[in-house]
Amino acid sequence: MLGQMMQQPLLISSLLVHAERHHGEQQVVSRRVEGDLHRQTFRELAARSRRMANALKALGVADGERVGTLAWNGHRHMELYYAVSGMGAVLHTLNPRLHAEQLAWIANHAEDRVVFFDLTFLPLVEAVAPHLPQVRQFVLMTDRAHMPASSTIAHLLCYEDLLDAASDRFDWPRFDENRASSLCYTSGTTGNPKGALYSHRSTVLHTYAVALPDSLGLSSRDVILPVVPMFHVNAWGLPYAACMVGAKLVFPGPHLDGKSLYELFESEQVTVSAGVPTVWQGLLAHVQANQLRFGSMTRTVIGGSACPPAMMRTFQETYGVTVLHAWGMTELSPLGTVGVLKGHQERLDAQARMAIQSKQGRGIFGIDMKIVGEDGEELAWDGKTSGELMVRGPWVIQQYFKGEGGDPLREGWFPTGDVALIDADGFMQITDRSKDVIKSGGEWIGSIELENIAMAHPAVAMAACIAARHPKWDERPLLVVMRKAGAELTREGLLQFYEGKIARWWTPDDVVFVDAIPLGATGKMQKNKLREMFRDHRLPTA
Ligand code: ADP
Repeated sequence: MLGQMMQQPLLISSLLVHAERHHGEQQVVSRRVEGDLHRQTFRELAARSRRMANALKALGVADGERVGTLAWNGHRHMELYYAVSGMGAVLHTLNPRLHAEQLAWIANHAEDRVVFFDLTFLPLVEAVAPHLPQVRQFVLMTDRAHMPASSTIAHLLCYEDLLDAASDRFDWPRFDENRASSLCYTSGTTGNPKGALYSHRSTVLHTYAVALPDSLGLSSRDVILPVVPMFHVNAWGLPYAACMVGAKLVFPGPHLDGKSLYELFESEQVTVSAGVPTVWQGLLAHVQANQLRFGSMTRTVIGGSACPPAMMRTFQETYGVTVLHAWGMTELSPLGTVGVLKGHQERLDAQARMAIQSKQGRGIFGIDMKIVGEDGEELAWDGKTSGELMVRGPWVIQQYFKGEGGDPLREGWFPTGDVALIDADGFMQITDRSKDVIKSGGEWIGSIELENIAMAHPAVAMAACIAARHPKWDERPLLVVMRKAGAELTREGLLQFYEGKIARWWTPDDVVFVDAIPLGATGKMQKNKLREMFRDHRLPTA
C-alpha cells in the first residue's frame, strides 16, 4: 500500500521561494570587490535571481548546461546559485586559486558554456579565455561604471546590464529532483581533479542536515558569515541553509584578513561563522594583538582539516566562542560529522569535554559510517581501533562526473581515504589521510596528533608532520614548522615539548624550520609538496 501524501520534488528554487515569502525583510550584506558594503533583502535577492534566470534563458543556457563562476562570497554569486540551478542548468563553482592551466582543464572537462567572474579575476580570465573554446559568453559580475574600457575578451558582458534588461517575473520550473544542480571538482592532489555532481534532492536534504540543532544549529535568529568560499563545496551549504531558516547572511568578499573579518563580525553582529583552520589563525592573531573581544559571535564551524586543540581552547576559553569541529569532503556535499556534545558529555570537566570536541564529531542523520580493516571487515567502535572510514547516504557521491576513475564505491560504501577511529558514543576521530600516514616499522603513526601537539607550543604558527625515509624503519616522522613572527624555538626545545604527551616512539625524529608552509587552493597544508621538498632529507637517526 502506498502512502497518500503529495509528491513534491525537493528543488533548490523552493528554498528561495520560502525565504522571500517568510523572511522577505531578512538581509544579505556583502562587502564587494568594488569596495562598498552592499545590502539587500531576501525579497530583492529573489527578484534579482528571477531576473538572472530570464537573462540566462536569453543567453541561450539550456537545461543541464554548465555555467561556471569565478567569484568571492557575495550577493551576485548567491543570485547565481539560485538562478542557475533554479532554472534547470548546473552551477559550476571554479576555484580561482588554482593555476590557469588547471582552471582551463576543469572548465573544459565540465564543458562550461557561460562563465561569470568578479572584477578581481579579469586578468586570470583573460589569460584562460583563449583556452576555453566551448565558452560562449563571459560575464563580468559588476555594473556598467566598473566595466573595463577594453578587454582581450571579445563581447564581454556586464552582469547588471543583463539584469536591467530582464524581467523579474519568472516561474521556477518544476522538474525531477534528481536532476543535477551543481558541480564541484575535488582538489586532485594526485591525478586530475574529478567532479562531484550534486542533485537538487541531495542539496536540499543536505541543507536540512546542516541546519539541525546538533549539526550547525542554524535559525532565523542567526547572522551567518561564511568565510569558507562559495567555490569550496558550496560554502559548506550555508547559502542554502540561510534561506531555509531565514538567517541573515554576511559575505566578506575578497577581504579575508583578520582585521577586515573582525570589523565585519562586529558591525553586522555575526553569531556564527565557518572556515578552515588556517583562516582563523589570522583572525585570532589580530584579536589577540589588539586585545579585542567578540561581541556577538557564539560559535564557529572549523573543518576541512583538523582543528588544532590549541586553537579550539583559545576560541572557547579566552573568547567564549564555541567551536563546532566538522568533517566533510567534496564527495559528501560536504558535511559528514559535527562535534556537538551529547547531554551526558556536557557535564564532564573541561579537559574531558575538550578531548571529545577535538575529535571530528558524530555522524549527522543521513550519513551512515563505518570503519574497516585491510580485509574489508567492519571494526569495533571502541575509540581505539582505527581503520579506513567508509560512508554512504543520500548526499554521498555515487559516481564522479563523466564516470571518471570508474566505480568509486566498495559494496555500496564510499571509501573516504581517511583513517579514523570511532568511540562508543559515535564520535569519529580522523588520525590521518591514508596517503599521509607514517608507516614506521609496520606500525602506523598518525600525523594529525603530532601536529596538534606542535601547534600547542606558544612559538609555533603552523606545523606539518610528514614521513621521511629511514633505512631501518622505512618511514619516520619529520616535523616541518613555521615559527610565529619574532618567536624563538629550537629543534631540541620543540622535541622536549613532546615528552609525556605521546608514546616515545611516536616522537618526531627531526624538526626543520621553514618560512612558510605551502597551502593549497582551499587553505589546507600541502603535504605532498612538503614530501617532495624533503624527499632527500637525512634524518639524524638514520
Ligand atoms: P573539502 O573540499 O570539503 O575540504 P576535500 O574533498 O578537499 O574536501 O577534502 C576532504 C578531506 O579533508 C577529508 O577526506 C579529510 O582528509 C580532510 N578533512 C576535512 N575535514 C577535516 C577535519 N575536521 N579534520 C581532519 N581532516 C579533515
